[in-house]
Parts: sequence; structure tokens; C-alpha cells
Amino acid sequence: MTVQSYIYKNLWLQVVISLIVGLGVGLILGDDVGVGLDNDTLDSLSSYLKIPANIFLSVILMIIVPLIFASIVVAIANLGAKEKIKTLGFGIGIYFVITTTIAILVAITLATIIAPGSILDLTALQETHELSEDDLKVTDGFSFDDIPNAVSNIIPRNPIASYLEGQMFSILVMALIVGLSMTVLPKESVQPLLDLLESIQKITLHILLISMKIVPFAVFGLIVGMVAKVGIETMGGLGVYMGTVIAGLGVMLLVYSMILKFVAKRSISATFSKFRNPQTLAFSTASSMATMPVTLKTAEEDLKIDNRVSKFVIPLGTTVNMDGTALYQVIAVFFLAQLFAIELSIISILVIIITSLLASIGTPAVPGAGVIVLSTILITVGIPPVGILLLISVDRILDMIRTMVNVTGDLTASCVFDRITRKVES
Ligand code: ASP
Repeated sequence: MTVQSYIYKNLWLQVVISLIVGLGVGLILGDDVGVGLDNDTLDSLSSYLKIPANIFLSVILMIIVPLIFASIVVAIANLGAKEKIKTLGFGIGIYFVITTTIAILVAITLATIIAPGSILDLTALQETHELSEDDLKVTDGFSFDDIPNAVSNIIPRNPIASYLEGQMFSILVMALIVGLSMTVLPKESVQPLLDLLESIQKITLHILLISMKIVPFAVFGLIVGMVAKVGIETMGGLGVYMGTVIAGLGVMLLVYSMILKFVAKRSISATFSKFRNPQTLAFSTASSMATMPVTLKTAEEDLKIDNRVSKFVIPLGTTVNMDGTALYQVIAVFFLAQLFAIELSIISILVIIITSLLASIGTPAVPGAGVIVLSTILITVGIPPVGILLLISVDRILDMIRTMVNVTGDLTASCVFDRITRKVES
């Protein structure tokens, strides 16, 4: 195989090349070591360079709702026997909550020990980001009176509105209700819808696979803009915060290795080497959703996961299981609390644990969603949401790494439940 055809066949290699070239071009255009283009020129250049990334994002958003709805309904309906769904569904739910809680606890430990927010000077940041005192006002957090409302809104009253607004959590709840109802009805009444949904699933997955070709260009454009505009200095200022998040994500990869070895009983190195394709794609697209077709393919073809398990665990995990996002959100909350010198009481920490668990479930699996949903957690604990402005400049790179961890978590879960179902059936 020639080098050219090897590169042509391997998307991850194309992405790595784009990253390196993009980094070089970004440095040349920025003012750290390069020619230092002025801000207006950089802005207009990066808006052009962002076209492939925007197109790619639009494709994901265009198909995300039908894809997830169809995947989950089809998966549940195909699982068949009600008892099996109960055991598998319940088991997966508990497993996701446990791994996400581990991620949150890792985040709290690291953020408390390293205390990245205590190192930075708030007044300097306030000046560079032009923040007023009003912006930084600490507010009242979540109160227990808000719980009944939050619980009552879990079931979508108006599914069409949820569809149009892309509220993934409501769509998921509806898909679960529809899928479960289909398992108890006679086959002839559900088959037409099942056929239609299967067809929707195949078509949307195909669209995603085709649009993947644009990914190396998207990565190139984003990296050039980020390096040239944000500059090494800003990244350096937030370096300890970024380092804390990256260290926490590294710990999660270790946790997955242990789960693979001791629970799924698979070789760590052999399994991780099979994860490489979806991981690189997650890293480059910063979207678990965009990566989903490749995650599914890897689970079924390389990891030899039972189709019934992979078709249920991967779409569900992609939507609700985001350990990397939860870990990142908690470190970001602690970072901002330390920066704004807000003392976090035990109650606030408990509220952070619960809201970040729920927030990671509700975060859409698309680029940058984690930082947006973060504002909900900040408001809940009373930290000024404007703090997000400080984090957004370096968010893309953290998004790429946390998405890779999210996808690794889903693949690990599918290995675990593959083993469990095989054991139960044997
Ligand atoms: N981009 C992440 C994902 O798709 C979500 C996030 O922003 O944390 O998994």
C-alpha cells in the first residue's frame, strides 16, 4: 500500500495531519511567533476557514433528532423479551450513573487538591475580558422548591416542540416510552413503524458517514483560527485549569482500563488499540453524535459485541453517558468558585454532584455543548455565569479531549454489557 492510499483510507491520520498543519499555519498567522495579522483580518479569515466545520455541525444537527429517536426505538423493539430489556436497561442505567459519579468524584478531588482557580488573578482577567462588577455578582442558587417543577417536566408534553427545539433528553424519554410500548404490542401493529424507523436510521447514519469526509478540513480551519486568535499567552494563563481537566480525563481512561480488565475481562492493550478510530474521530469532531456510526461499527466489527447490545448501549450512551463532560463541568465549576472566592459548602457540593450528573445526561452530544450547559450548573450554585466567557477561549481543545473520553466510556460500557448478556444467556 502506498503512503497516499494509506492516508486516504485512514481518517484518523488525515485528522492528525490537518491538526499539525493547522497548528503551524495558526502560529504563522498569529502574533506569538508569526506575522501577527490584525484582529479584523483574522476574524474574517477564520470565518471562512470555519465553513467546513459549520457545514459539518449543521449536518449533525439536521439528523441528530431522527437518528437518536429511531436508534433507540429500534434497539428496544429488537431486544424483544420484556424481561431482557428490564435487566439490561436497569443494569445500563445503574452502570452509567456509577461511572459518571466516579468521574465527578475524580473531578472534585483534583480540583480541590490542585485548586486551579486560586492561582489566577481575577482583576487581570476582569480587565482583559472587560467584565463589570455587575457581571460578577454572586446570586442565590438552586432551592429545594425547584425540584417538583423539574421532576414534572421530565415527560415531554409537546413532543413536536421537543423535536423542533432539539431537546435531546425529552426525545430520549419519548423514545423509551414508544420503544417499550412497542415490545408489548402484537408484531403486526408495530412492524410498519419499525420498518420506517429502521430505514430512517440507515439513511441518517449514511449521511453522517458521507459527511465525515469533510472532517479533516473542519479540523484544519478550527485549529488555525484558535491558535492564531487565542494565542499561546491566554492558553498559558488558563494552563493549570486545562491541565487539571486533562489530568482528570487521563484518570478516567485508567478507570476504563480497569473496568475492561476486571469487569469485561478483556485485554486492555488489545481493546484500546481497537478504540483508536472512534477516539480519533471523537477528538477531531468534538461530537460523540458525529462519531456514533464509527463507534457502532467498531463495537460490532472489531470488538465483536453482540449486535443487540451494541445497538442499544451505543446510541443510549452517546446521548446520556458523558463522563468526560461531567468531569470537565465539575472542574470548571470549582475553578470559577475558587477564582471568584466563593466558599462551597457541603450542600453546594452535593448540589453540584447532582446537577452535573443530570446536566451531563442532558448535554447534547455536539461540539461545545458542555460549556453551554455548564451555565445551568453555575446558576444552580449561584456562581456568575459570565465566568463561562473566561473558559470559552480554551474550550475547543478540552471539548476534543472530553468527547474522546465520552466515546471511550460508551465503548467500555458495551464491552461490559456484552460480557454480562453472554453470561446470562449461557
Ligand atoms: N462535545 C461533547 C460530546 O459530544 C459534549 C460536550 O460538549 O461536552 O460528547
